[in-house]
Amino acid sequence: MSEGERLTELAKRRGFYFPSSSAYGGAAGFWTYGPQGAALKSNIEDAWRDRYVVKEGHQEISAPDIMPEPVFEASGHLDGFDDMIVECGECGATHRADHLVEDNTDIEEAESLPNEEVMDLIADHGIECPSCHTSLADQPVDNFNLMFETNIGPGSSSPGYLRPETAQGIFVEFPQLSEYARNQLPFGVAQIGKAYRNEISPRKSLVRVREFTQAELEHFIDPEEDEPPLAEVEDVTLPLYSAAAQESEDGGMQELTVREAVDQGIVESEWVAYYLGVSTEWYERVGVDMDRFRYRQHLAGERAHYASDCWDAESEVDGDWIEITGFAYRGDYDLSKHAEHSGEDYTVFKQYDEPITVERATVDPDMSYLGPEFGGDAGAVADALEALAERNPDAFDDDEVTVEVDGESHTVPVEETNFSVDEVTENGEHIRPHVVEPSFGVGRIIYTVLAHAYETDEVDGEERTYLDLPPEQAPTTVGVFPLMDKDGMAELASDIADDLRAAGLSVTYDDSGAIGRRYRRQDEVGTPYCVTIDYESLEDGEVTVRERDTTEQKRLPIDGLADRLERLATGDLTFDDL
Ligand code: AMP
Repeated sequence: MSEGERLTELAKRRGFYFPSSSAYGGAAGFWTYGPQGAALKSNIEDAWRDRYVVKEGHQEISAPDIMPEPVFEASGHLDGFDDMIVECGECGATHRADHLVEDNTDIEEAESLPNEEVMDLIADHGIECPSCHTSLADQPVDNFNLMFETNIGPGSSSPGYLRPETAQGIFVEFPQLSEYARNQLPFGVAQIGKAYRNEISPRKSLVRVREFTQAELEHFIDPEEDEPPLAEVEDVTLPLYSAAAQESEDGGMQELTVREAVDQGIVESEWVAYYLGVSTEWYERVGVDMDRFRYRQHLAGERAHYASDCWDAESEVDGDWIEITGFAYRGDYDLSKHAEHSGEDYTVFKQYDEPITVERATVDPDMSYLGPEFGGDAGAVADALEALAERNPDAFDDDEVTVEVDGESHTVPVEETNFSVDEVTENGEHIRPHVVEPSFGVGRIIYTVLAHAYETDEVDGEERTYLDLPPEQAPTTVGVFPLMDKDGMAELASDIADDLRAAGLSVTYDDSGAIGRRYRRQDEVGTPYCVTIDYESLEDGEVTVRERDTTEQKRLPIDGLADRLERLATGDLTFDDL
């Protein structure tokens, strides 16, 4: 069994995740998180919120999943959010053309190639339909838009789309959100929520699905002035796989500190470098194995149209690299597009420290001259004069000035333009913020964390499977077991479980089956500590506490147990310290 298959089997058996709606045959790309998975997901989301919202001092919002069509016209998704599709001429199955090329050749990023080239590669490599094994040579490679369309209200006059990323719900509301931030840059707005993509071929359980949770941060900055607090993460080591290394024969990964990566120009944007540093620590915290992790820079052809510097955090599972987070410097692309399409103001007024006095050239053309002289073009000539005065005041030095309107030159005596240069006082200017975006896929992080946590060893001569999840992420922190359901042991165990829950710990109470089986069940869902109440506990007020990874056991008093377990779970105390 591959690593992924082994995980999917455990995930279903123990309640992490399983395919949805299977009573009706299911629908590919939709998964339900069971009790363990939902708890793990919520712990990972909490850890994300803690790091990217609370610790950074950002705001969090929750926008709708469905947004009207003009939003996606402006964002470019309606026109360009496509993947390459190829349909089998024999069985009609559809496939992601670039993935077929990647699976059957040495090419790693076929997505960045033009459709015709992918079509040629399919023919040249004799690639077949994975469903019926008929050759796909000469089948056209087309674009397929990934957005799910719906109608808002009855009828079809108001199309809407399930959002393909949570980000647009932030960008569209920028004017309002900027007010909440008192129009002071920099500020960040985060969102954890669902995103929907009608993927051509969902695969690898949680890795490529059609409905998934994103945790995205849009950090709005003044590109001229704002700098990230790089010193906070400058010594963090980044495993980098740059575009240059990917393109060279012998290039491999480089281990550089955040500071070195910036100084050597490997990571172009200091803001992106800052978030790579922050995120390296965060991935480690949630249980990603950093020996199976890298940051890969986008190749020039792969970069989204709006992004200037782009890196993906990738984790390795089953020998494949999976993009778990995208880090992009998006410039002012999104806010400009929404300003252009909506006509609203997507800028921030930046107050100068001191008002400044500047010379401003203006015109106030005499329309009683321009009208008779230029007829229907008079207004356009006046506008052109105004623009010219602003752009090149020297053009008004002579007696006459010439402007072009629709390719035709018009000459105007300067005295009819009322040209003047005046001193004006300015208190500030309107600027369009730039955006730095870390965009996390929560499901892929869950998949990675579980795959990397999956361990086997031998205990009492039997193979054991356990998940070495960090206690902060584990769905359950403590399993509580009465040795037997008699002589008051169950009552005492149940009281202890209640006390631990009251102290805020996540507790599972289990009284069924042999103790060894109960331990195995908790091991398989990654519960870091188990507490067993036996006959002696009734006498001496002590219980057995067992640690998951080592299976080591210690006797501890019931008194103060909650406090100790809590300190173990937060890393304040180690099992050896007990
Ligand atoms: P993107 O906007 O494509 O860079 O996606 C941002 C993040 O969302 C990725 O890094 C993934 O973690 C996640 N993601 C994107 N597409 C999917 C998908 N189909 N299934 C699961 N996660 C996804």
